[in-house]
Amino acid sequence: MSESPSVYLITHSIQSFEHISHPIRNCTTKRTMEAPPSIAIIGGGPSGLVLARLLEVNGITDYVVFERDQFSTPGPNRQGGTLDLQKDSGQEALKRAGLFEKFSNELARWDAAYFHLLESTGKTIANFNHKLGDRPEIDRLQLRDLLLESIPQHKIRWEHSVKFVERKAGGENTVGDNGCIIHFTNGSSATGFRLVVGADGAWSKVRPLLTSASPEYSGIFFIEAKISHNNPSYPVAHELVGPGNMLVLGNQKMMAVQQLSDGHYRVYFALSVPEDFYKRVTSVDADPSKATEEMRPHLLSTNEFFADWTPNVKAFVENAEGPFRPWPLYFIDQETVGWDRGVAPGVTLMGDAAHASTPFVGEGVNCSMHDAVMLAEFLVSHCGSNATFAHVEEVNLEAALAAYEKNMFNRGQDLIRRSCESGRRMFSDNAGPLVLQMFSGYGESETVESAAL
Ligand SMILES: Cc1cc2nc3c(=O)[nH]c(=O)nc-3n(C[C@H](O)[C@H](O)[C@H](O)COP(=O)(O)OP(=O)(O)OC[C@H]3O[C@@H](n4cnc5c(N)ncnc54)[C@H](O)[C@@H]3O)c2cc1C
Repeated sequence: MSESPSVYLITHSIQSFEHISHPIRNCTTKRTMEAPPSIAIIGGGPSGLVLARLLEVNGITDYVVFERDQFSTPGPNRQGGTLDLQKDSGQEALKRAGLFEKFSNELARWDAAYFHLLESTGKTIANFNHKLGDRPEIDRLQLRDLLLESIPQHKIRWEHSVKFVERKAGGENTVGDNGCIIHFTNGSSATGFRLVVGADGAWSKVRPLLTSASPEYSGIFFIEAKISHNNPSYPVAHELVGPGNMLVLGNQKMMAVQQLSDGHYRVYFALSVPEDFYKRVTSVDADPSKATEEMRPHLLSTNEFFADWTPNVKAFVENAEGPFRPWPLYFIDQETVGWDRGVAPGVTLMGDAAHASTPFVGEGVNCSMHDAVMLAEFLVSHCGSNATFAHVEEVNLEAALAAYEKNMFNRGQDLIRRSCESGRRMFSDNAGPLVLQMFSGYGESETVESAAL
């Protein structure tokens, strides 16, 4: 291997690392002399930002995050719902990041563990009034902001959507360079990294360097909508869901409702339908609002969907505010999670990029944040903290990645297996008792024989 300093190149478009203006906060940061980044994190979702923060906390500052979004606040169709953070994973990540106090005191909705499970007839199956396993909720956007505020702004490169990542032709890497060229959709590219971490979600552009695994359709299609304070269904939502969550189970379909921090409700109509369902029902190229008004009567017109549901819950479909967001759910087959460490030195994956799962155990984000904790921990223990990463020994870096991946593969496979099993129960013909079994041990429940709706 030849010796060469770590270099960072942006080709085709000239971009200065000296003055980077943040589009949302409208401020300009002048940076002092800083080593060129040796670690590229692709994706500024929960796993990517937790890793960035933990590197920062450990004094490893020569990293950069490339994020597809234009700003820290995504558009109206990508506002996201709410996430519950578990003690040993999501909450632990925030503790290590030094952000738990702010989370716990200012953002966490500890009372949101209220959980109501009912049948499509309106009969309550169970009502968990107590702590559901100590899992406070936080809006996805609040979590993102909490993490973003903890990282120097110039470390996030907004509007850098990765198109693909290739290995330089010609074999051997140089010291300080793992041989990857990151190509962006805007025509620019970057290279000269020791480590490239794909934290870019289910459709990762980094993953093909490591494995041919790719997400497959789960058979379940979510349609996301909203119930705001002035919606005619708001009082019913408030009564049935309160500050927490509700699942209504029907034959091979489901409705999930959850409250967000500003009091409005997110509704997910969950259907067991083909992947192209939305396109089949709505006109080709219909604008989202027109498509919503084509989809709504379809969901209400037949017993295949919500026509025979109890009136107050069916009214959520009638009244939900659009535009509906179609959301086919994908997962990576657990058998295909994993690769040999030697396949791509200096490259790894975290979160959904490695082990995308359906959301039926509500742990995807927790597992992803846990990945970031483990990767940071192994990098520090094998390569040292307060390090300029450019100079770490390759053998130490590869040992860190091997240790991390061994741990991550197991947790990722387990998550996919459990969420597939949970999905099978939720969309079965006998969902009520099967789903109730899953919640045994999640605190006290009050089971009511028949609830008036
Ligand atoms: C409907 C639904 C509900 C869910 N509910 C829950 C829940 O209640 N609890 C829970 O724990 N989990 C839940 N999950 C799962 C959870 O959202 C994910 O597991 C988690 O967000 C994964 O985090 P991540 O950082 O790996 O990836 P993501 O959150 O997908 O973040 C990836 C980031 O990379 C960026 N990116 C993507 N492609 C590129 C590219 N080419 N170039 C640059 N940047 C890119 C994206 O803009 C994004 O910022 C749910 C998932 C779904 C679909």
